[in-house]
Formats: sequence, structure tokens, C-alpha cells
Amino acid sequence: APALDARELYRFYRAGEEETLALRGVSLTVAPGELVAVVGPSGSGKSTLLACLAGLDEPAGGSVRIAGERISHRPEAERAGIRARRIGILLQTENLIAHLDVARNIRLARTAAGRHGTPAQDIDVLLDQVGLLGRAHALPRELAGGEVARAALAVALANDPDLLLADEPTGELDGSTEHRILELLRARGSDGRRGVLLVTHSTAVLAGADRVLTLRDGRLRA
Ligand code: ADP
Ligand code: ADP
Repeated sequence: APALDARELYRFYRAGEEETLALRGVSLTVAPGELVAVVGPSGSGKSTLLACLAGLDEPAGGSVRIAGERISHRPEAERAGIRARRIGILLQTENLIAHLDVARNIRLARTAAGRHGTPAQDIDVLLDQVGLLGRAHALPRELAGGEVARAALAVALANDPDLLLADEPTGELDGSTEHRILELLRARGSDGRRGVLLVTHSTAVLAGADRVLTLRDGRLRA
């Protein structure tokens, strides 16, 4: 099954008399092993699309499947469970809990997916992947900017998700950290089992994507 299979997504916002059609029949797939980038101007529907794909928001119409499992049109508790097990999410808002160290943040994400008692060596494997070995016991405020981004990525990858969804994952990073994160995201797809979908403005990230899709006024084009 595709890592992501979204079909004919519609999402409306109603505010008083006004109605905004944020998504107007958006379909997209991410094959296992693919890194797909979405670009689009502000207001084109990117945040809404990511929220619907992650099951944080419900589309009015259409369906979303993650590795074959439908996440759309289910009760919130079921969506949360599928999200925890199958999706890694990197949004622009921080996904780290401030009073928990890096290892505890990772354990929390594992626990949310029903995986209890992760051994310390598994945490170290994950930290090594993102270049944060030795920082397991640092609090988020003790990390430098680039380290925070990598810790956030480690949390997003904590459950080895079928699909990683990311909003500007390299947004405020310097060139070398951006390159490193991009390499990591690309490597995730290379075993041909998992997919990555990200929203970005970065030309470096776009150059590294397998496909680039453009969102405009709630419609997606290749
Ligand atoms: P960006 O510029 O990063 O693409 P926006 O600034 O358009 O994103 O939106 C940021 C957040 O504000 C989004 O989560 C969106 O849901 C919310 N938002 C955008 N437009 C409106 C609106 N007209 N009314 C209420 N919330 C909105
Ligand atoms: P982007 O992330 O590309 O900036 P959004 O998904 O935030 O786009 O917004 C898409 C459209 O939906 C915009 O016209 C925005 O103003 C509108 N919108 C987003 N969130 C809300 C909301 N909570 N209430 C009303 N309108 C919204």
C-alpha cells in the first residue's frame, strides 16, 4: 500500500456569512520510498492539508489512508491511535515538552503509540541517527537551535512511522544542518518502505525531492 493515499479531499471553513474552500478536491499519493514536497503561497491550504492528512482535522469529503489504514472519518480517539503508530509529525510549532529531557520526550511518543519500556540503547540508536548522541538527558532549553530541530525530528521518528509529515522542517536552520536533516529524510525513504511528505519553501529541499506538487487555492498540481 502507498505510505499515503489521499483522495478528493474537501475542507470548508465557515465564519459568519463567509465560507472559504480551503481544499477543493485534493488527491495525492506518496509511494513507499518517496519524498514528496508541496509548495504554495500563503493561504493556499498547506496547513489545512497537513492537518487533514495527519487526522488532526477531518475533511468534509474524501479519504486519507496511511499505509493502507484509513485515518479519515473515524472518532478522534481512533485517529489519535493511528496517528501515533503510523505518522511522524514535524510541525512548525515545537513538538517537545519543555520540562522533559530528550530521552523522555522520545519515550512519551513511544508510549502514545502503545510501546512501553523502550530500552536506553534504542533511544541512543535514534539519537545517533539525528546526530544527538550524548544529548539524551538535555532539556529542550539546553539545546542549540539546530539541536532542537534534530530532537524534534527524533521524536517524530520515535515510532518508525510509515509516513513522515513535515511543515518547513528546515525552516530556520543554517545550511549545514539543513543539509543533514534533508539527508536523513531522504535516507528514510531509501529502504523503499516509508514515505515523506513535506511542505517547504527551501530550494535545497525542493531539489532533493522526488516530486514537487503545487497547491494553489486549495487545488494541487504537479
Ligand atoms: P502560513 O503563512 O504559514 O502558510 P497562515 O499564516 O496562513 O500560514 O496560517 C497560520 C494558521 O492560522 C493556520 O493554522 C490557519 O489554520 C490559521 N488561519 C489562517 N487563516 C485564518 C482565518 N482566516 N481565520 C482563522 N484562522 C486562520
Ligand atoms: P496555508 O497554510 O497555505 O497558508 P491554510 O491552510 O492556513 O493555508 O489556509 C487556507 C485557507 O483557509 C485560507 O484562505 C485561510 O484564510 C483559510 N483558513 C484557514 N484556517 C481557517 C480557520 N480556522 N477559519 C477560517 N478560515 C481559515
